[in-house]
Amino acid sequence: MSALLELSNIGRNYRTGEQQVKVLKNISLTINTGEMVAIVGVSGSGKSTLMNILGCLDKPSYGEYYLAWQNIAELDDGQLSVLRREYCGFIFQCYHLLPYLTAEQNVEILAIYTSTCQQERRKRAIGLLARLGLSDRIKYYPTQLSGGQQQRVSIARALINGGQIILADEPTGAFDSHSGDEVTAILKQLYQEGYTVILVTHNMQIAAQAERIIEIKNSEIIHHSVQRKPTKILPPIFSAKKQQISMTQRLNQFREELLMAWRAILINKMRTLLTMLGINIGIASVVSILVIGNASKRSVLADIQSIATNTITVFPGKGFSDVSPEDRRALTINYVDGLQK
Ligand code: ADP
Ligand code: MG
Repeated sequence: MSALLELSNIGRNYRTGEQQVKVLKNISLTINTGEMVAIVGVSGSGKSTLMNILGCLDKPSYGEYYLAWQNIAELDDGQLSVLRREYCGFIFQCYHLLPYLTAEQNVEILAIYTSTCQQERRKRAIGLLARLGLSDRIKYYPTQLSGGQQQRVSIARALINGGQIILADEPTGAFDSHSGDEVTAILKQLYQEGYTVILVTHNMQIAAQAERIIEIKNSEIIHHSVQRKPTKILPPIFSAKKQQISMTQRLNQFREELLMAWRAILINKMRTLLTMLGINIGIASVVSILVIGNASKRSVLADIQSIATNTITVFPGKGFSDVSPEDRRALTINYVDGLQK
């Protein structure tokens, strides 16, 4: 395996009810380090499915896929996440930014599970945003940014872990031509800096920026332009330090997760309020039922006791009503202690 990404006769089938849909068929493809490749095809041809497989977000139904010289079929979910984190940066058409995080936090969040410390992460996130022309927008929330700016934030996020492969699925699909050109220019610049850029688009003008175009039709590659010779691996611009995760780093990650939860609570005040109200009503109902149950039990017992259980009836004389006078006993002084008890 010499290429950075190598697909060998892979396919992807989906089962919908009784039917099996073949979304990708017999795809063989190699992408070398430092290439810029465009994947084109009409809507529904399988471009995103192929992209998800290339980025290890999905696995092929058959065939072999090697990413960074690793057979992905041999990796478990945890190992796949690490491989994805170390090698891939994703850019999506709809940005997928978290609405309750600022631009800087959205970029930084992807580095939480690396061994980099918080200051280092923050510094890198701010550096990347500045590089993409957003230094005056780092504290803005996604809703306060234009589409083009949000996409630039998502590009910074794709670069934060220093992965050398950029996978962009229709990154300009939501824009006018000006913002689209801006995003394409950034991707081209990354390619020139040594990143491997894989770009899905249905716009042939944008695809023409790539050095290689792969066309998919009816689940198969129907056109494949010439590939250039593999070049040596170029280091990414922002390289994440890779170390063993220590106890302190684990604690830091836990702190970050709590912080994220707290931010989510603060941003969704109404939802939090309603959830708390629901929990309170639930607990109050359980407590009330227990209290009512206990009170009823006590009242019933009191009623029963008042009827007869601890009542001794003493009648004067012997032979009272004379039903079976032989069973009746007269009170003696010996009974006094018992009666007192
Ligand atoms: P493209 O990105 O080229 O527009 P996709 O890769 O998203 O196309 O989808 C290709 C085909 O696969 C479509 O016909 C779609 O309906 C089908 N498809 C995608 N995901 C699933 C799924 N999870 N289950 C069933 N069919 C799917
Ligand atoms: Mg798609």
